[in-house]
Amino acid sequence: MTATASKSLVPISFEFFPPNTPVGDEKLKTVVQELGSMTPEFFSVTYGAGGSTREKTLNTVRAIAAAGFDAAPHLSCVGSTRESIGEILATYRAQNIHRLVALRGDLPSGTATAGEFRYAAELVRFIRETQGADWHIEVAAYPEYHPQNRYAAHDLKHYADKVNAGASSAITQFFFNPDAYFHFVDETRKLGASVPVVPGIMPFHNYGRIAQFAARDGIEIPRWVAMKMEGYLDDSASIRAFGIEVVTKLCERLIAGGAPGIHFYTMNQSAVTLEICRRLGAG
Ligand code: FAD
Repeated sequence: MTATASKSLVPISFEFFPPNTPVGDEKLKTVVQELGSMTPEFFSVTYGAGGSTREKTLNTVRAIAAAGFDAAPHLSCVGSTRESIGEILATYRAQNIHRLVALRGDLPSGTATAGEFRYAAELVRFIRETQGADWHIEVAAYPEYHPQNRYAAHDLKHYADKVNAGASSAITQFFFNPDAYFHFVDETRKLGASVPVVPGIMPFHNYGRIAQFAARDGIEIPRWVAMKMEGYLDDSASIRAFGIEVVTKLCERLIAGGAPGIHFYTMNQSAVTLEICRRLGAG
């Protein structure tokens, strides 16, 4: 099923991680139904570093498809062989899945070998060459640049390499500064990398955790947002209300500025994301 959100101006999609427990599996079924009411274009499912969730990602993708929605697995390549990636792609093809998010990933600590793929561009090229033109290949984009790259210009060029290798579109790392997104899109266009760049949006499910992710991944939380959130202390109602307001306004600015869709990092939870979607007019 491929549907476009009826009232929101752009297609939306939702990202999950594969649950670790049967309880998590059951909870995700409910979350899929709740977020499914927003008629997303697809649900994506992450893939653990070094292939650690290979079976769980596949099972989650199957559960989403069984519920009647389009699913796009993520696939990271670092530490893998061409043969093992080829097997995974064949499994997805057999499930009639032709859309995925192609990533380099990060090697789990202590892993010594990078395998046969060093960068996502090599995976994209491999998928295009072995699976053909009908696959929709998403890649990752970093409006505030990838944390392992010291120079913005280098990171942009590597992004353009991924697009030129055959990517169909991109989903961004989360960010809170719309200017970073618009600047990134302008810069990539100048390099001739013109595929749609869909903003990846992280609702404030839990401010403390999101702030940790942001610090780890080099993402700026505007000072006025951080100061206000921290000032609420343990007033969870105010944190929730302010977080929803900030992220809804961010989405509105992105959509007004021409963003071709919105991809939500759901953390396998529905409440806050649903409220933002409703305010945007989705569903
Ligand atoms: P690449 O595009 O290969 O880039 C990685 C780094 O290498 C960048 O700094 C880039 O500038 C540099 N680089 C690229 N090519 C070259 C070159 N030729 N020479 C020198 N340097 C180069 N991780 C997971 O493990 N599982 C997931 O499911 C997952 N999903 C994600 C979804 C999204 C939308 C995003 C934004 C990230 C996701 N990640 C996931 C995280 C991602 O795997 C990490 O950020 C990882 O460090 C980089 O992956 P990439 O595909 O962007 O790599």
